[in-house]
Amino acid sequence: MRAQPQASHYVGGSYVESQSGTPFDSLYPATGEVIAQIRAADDAVIEAAIRSAQEGQKVWAATPAAERGRVLRRAAEILREKNRELSILETLDTGKPLQETLIADAASGADCLEYFGGLAATLTGEHIDLGGSFAYTKREPLGICFGIGAWNYPIQIACWKSAPALVCGNAMIFKPSEVTPLSALKLAEAFTEAGLPAGVFNVLQGFGDVGAKLVAHPAIAKVSLTGSVPTGAKVAALAGEHLKKTTLELGGKSPLIVFEDADIENAVSAAINANFYSTGQICSNGTRVFVHEAIKEAFVARLAERTAKAVMGDPLDEATNIGPLVSKQQLDKVLHYMQIGQDEGARLVCGGGSASVASFPDGYFVQPTVFADVKDDMRIAREEIFGPVLSVLDFTDEDDVIARANDTDFGLAAGVFTRDIQRAHRVIDQLQAGTCWINTYNLTPIEMPFGGYKKSGIGRENGHAAIDYYSQTKSVYVEMGGVEAAF
Ligand code: NAD
Repeated sequence: MRAQPQASHYVGGSYVESQSGTPFDSLYPATGEVIAQIRAADDAVIEAAIRSAQEGQKVWAATPAAERGRVLRRAAEILREKNRELSILETLDTGKPLQETLIADAASGADCLEYFGGLAATLTGEHIDLGGSFAYTKREPLGICFGIGAWNYPIQIACWKSAPALVCGNAMIFKPSEVTPLSALKLAEAFTEAGLPAGVFNVLQGFGDVGAKLVAHPAIAKVSLTGSVPTGAKVAALAGEHLKKTTLELGGKSPLIVFEDADIENAVSAAINANFYSTGQICSNGTRVFVHEAIKEAFVARLAERTAKAVMGDPLDEATNIGPLVSKQQLDKVLHYMQIGQDEGARLVCGGGSASVASFPDGYFVQPTVFADVKDDMRIAREEIFGPVLSVLDFTDEDDVIARANDTDFGLAAGVFTRDIQRAHRVIDQLQAGTCWINTYNLTPIEMPFGGYKKSGIGRENGHAAIDYYSQTKSVYVEMGGVEAAF
């Protein structure tokens, strides 16, 4: 097997196997070939991870913040040195083309470790003057944080959660998606090599039941999930029962609004990035593309012309820019929606079904698909598909398009294309979405907070904002005079 790790889990600074956990395979989505066999965590491994995280966290919280930062920055350098090897692993596990994984996965994870490593020594409290007496605040860690990953950006998600958690002095137990279990183990190796004390970052494998056990475990102080809205609701309910802090990064059905004065070529580029990058498996995708009626046909024609140039094929060939979907289950779901779109009466501009790729007869490939004349109430315009299915909807009026863009339970992201600067800001101000773009789409630099409004999530990752979700403030009142009492 070409990607078999030393063992399934990483606990206390080394690989550990579980004896009784459910076995499962990791598949290469381009061929269906088994690349690794993993065991889910059993209770013994879960308890060992908790114990090692408790011990590691004490040592780590007592480590000066500047030193914690240095460890994270060393880990960033290790990820960069190993970028090609890690990118190949991520391509094998997710099916995403190497052209993408080389720049967007371990590389963005390294940016994240570097950014939070740099913030480490700047995390301070406040001094509050109370007229003679004073108060001060300090940030303290929460304890053991539990990170749960989705399968679309496995190592990036592991970094986005662990870096802010660790820099604040927490330990993290991370459970990758059972669909993509491999790269988080490599992150754990990099942390150990960088000097992270044993137990501060542990990886446990498994399905939702392992996740739920850890969410409910009394030793876990905080849970951070990246996943779908239904899973988010389950995790929030269970965490709520135990009154745990939660960060939820969930799904979306985000609008991208293209006004009549937009640069059409740039807007088409953004629509492509917002729907076909990572074969459409990105939570913030702008899957509802509202295009002003005056330019709609020109936009659709150019989009179809450029989509025809997509290179689908061997994900390990750097010329390929569209790979397979991650799994058979995801393939079936996306094909189902492609059929629903046609049944609902949307105009199929291109794509619409599975794709056959020479030498990869068993791969989960689908055609990048564009529907035009999509109506707001169609299922393809309302439900998250998580595949390369782009819907073009028409509009003429600004207020009307804002209302329609907001008419969804989701609120993860939104984009606006216009050359009118006042309109751009006016529209963005009214869009109910946590992450917005003007004249671009889907760029998520680590410096910029990321997260959702409404059912798309709770809390923020990235940027300074993330620190608030991985630390707690202690306020200390210092009395400099006497103490008065009524009697
Ligand atoms: P999913 O919800 O099926 O699974 C996510 C993770 O939750 C997996 O690790 C899974 O094992 C775990 N899980 C499942 N049930 C659980 C439970 N009851 N308790 C604890 N853990 C449980 O999501 P997915 O299919 O892996 O990923 C796709 C979804 O993730 C999409 O909806 C997408 O929009 C979303 N996503 C969001 C972001 C974001 O940052 N907002 C990023 C990537 C993906």
